[in-house]
Amino acid sequence: MADSLKPYLSSEKIAQLNQELGEKITRDYRAILKPDEALLVIVTLKGAMIFASDLVRHIDVPLEIDFVRLASYGAGTQSSGTVRFVKDIETEVANKHLLVLDEIVDSGRTLDFLIARLNSQNAASIKIGALLSKPSRREFEVPVDYVGMEVEDEFLVGYGLDFNEKYRQLKDICVLSQA
Ligand code: IMP
Ligand code: MG
Repeated sequence: MADSLKPYLSSEKIAQLNQELGEKITRDYRAILKPDEALLVIVTLKGAMIFASDLVRHIDVPLEIDFVRLASYGAGTQSSGTVRFVKDIETEVANKHLLVLDEIVDSGRTLDFLIARLNSQNAASIKIGALLSKPSRREFEVPVDYVGMEVEDEFLVGYGLDFNEKYRQLKDICVLSQA
């Protein structure tokens, strides 16, 4: 089967979404953070690495970055239904303001699992930011505070999004179909 890639979101459009998200996040956290506080940005590997690295450069408040790796997708385009903790964050979260970044929220299973875990650790606040959201696929009601764009139920690759670990490095986001 040959993969076919159809352009869906250009790198220019993605850059614009990141700028808008970053400006909104900056405004909100300027009002929340005390002078000695820093936002803790938690990046979900691997998919959100490119999104997060672009977005944090539009966030103009003091911040720290940490990484978590959860795997909910096996091979293929369907969720396996289970979430595995592959790598936990290394930063103490108690009393910190947390912003969890994911590149796309699909069923919500992964973030539901992560937020439940973080909820038990006495953070000052927990918010979620995602470049993309597929609301029609939601099975777990996770509150996504910052969404770049809502998308249709298509399987997307590029800009961090993969299919069997391929295509993460594409500058644009494309719809993948197999013919
Ligand atoms: P969820 O747990 O179903 O919300 O999905 C979580 C993760 O699955 C996302 O953060 C992505 O890493 C991956 N995922 C969901 N939809 C897509 C897609 O269209 N393409 C590539 N990966 C996806
Ligand atoms: Mg992800």
